[in-house]
Amino acid sequence: MDKVKAKKEFGQNFLKDDSVLNKIIQSMPHNNNHIVEIGPGLGDLTKNLVKYKDVTAYEVDTDLIGILKSKFAKELESKKFTLKHIDVLKAWDELNSLHNGKYDLIANLPYYIATNIILRAFEDDLCEHIIVMVQKEVAEKFTAKVNDKEYSSLGIITETISKDSRILFDVPPEAFDPMPKVISSILYIKKDLSKKFDKDFNKFLKSCFVQPRKKLSKNLSSIVDKNKISTIFEDLNLNDNLRPHEVSASLYSQMYTKVKDGRD
Ligand code: SAM
Repeated sequence: MDKVKAKKEFGQNFLKDDSVLNKIIQSMPHNNNHIVEIGPGLGDLTKNLVKYKDVTAYEVDTDLIGILKSKFAKELESKKFTLKHIDVLKAWDELNSLHNGKYDLIANLPYYIATNIILRAFEDDLCEHIIVMVQKEVAEKFTAKVNDKEYSSLGIITETISKDSRILFDVPPEAFDPMPKVISSILYIKKDLSKKFDKDFNKFLKSCFVQPRKKLSKNLSSIVDKNKISTIFEDLNLNDNLRPHEVSASLYSQMYTKVKDGRD
């Protein structure tokens, strides 16, 4: 292994299992999209990605930049590989999009900011596919459907803006160096590029789930007038005893449209 000490503060767990790396590569969509990788680390996934497509990678750790530059000197020169030394969240703030054409995000994400990164990728109109390694519990939240234990705003947003979302497979701690304390999963999301991510809808959903075991109408009462809630529940034929996890993504969308009515 390259002589670097993994840094906890950057969520560094380097993927070392070739069979997992191969399975990620096999799941790559067959299209002409560019690849964006967040956190190339020591370059093990990158090495496989650049065999097939042009890649732009964002890495925050200065110590890794030198290693990557020498490992990928040929690909950097031929422009098959572009390396950006920056915190990816800042890059998004500065650029809006991580690439200037359609791209797929493929990465073994730093877990401490994985949810944030996926939500940014939802907002980024040029990002079409998301294939990322995350903590298993996080993957379950993004793919949860109505009545599932893990169902929350994340599952609803994903269902609203995607054509397909699945967990492809789980990855045990032994596949990494150093080993994380958790099981990981590869999360696959194909976005529907005709749908826009609506930050206000996301905020609305968070309020709906603020106390997940309480009645939905009770949670809603902190942001919507009680009479309006009754009218909306009546219009949509919803029972007042419903809990937040019992309402489908499409009903949440309809409810949100009605809540907004009169506010715009
Ligand atoms: N891709 C490598 C692999 O599979 O072995 C490394 C994955 S490791 C889980 C996460 C990587 O993300 C590390 O290289 C870490 O330095 C990088 N990283 C952490 N925070 C970052 C940030 N805010 N912006 C860009 N890269 C970041």
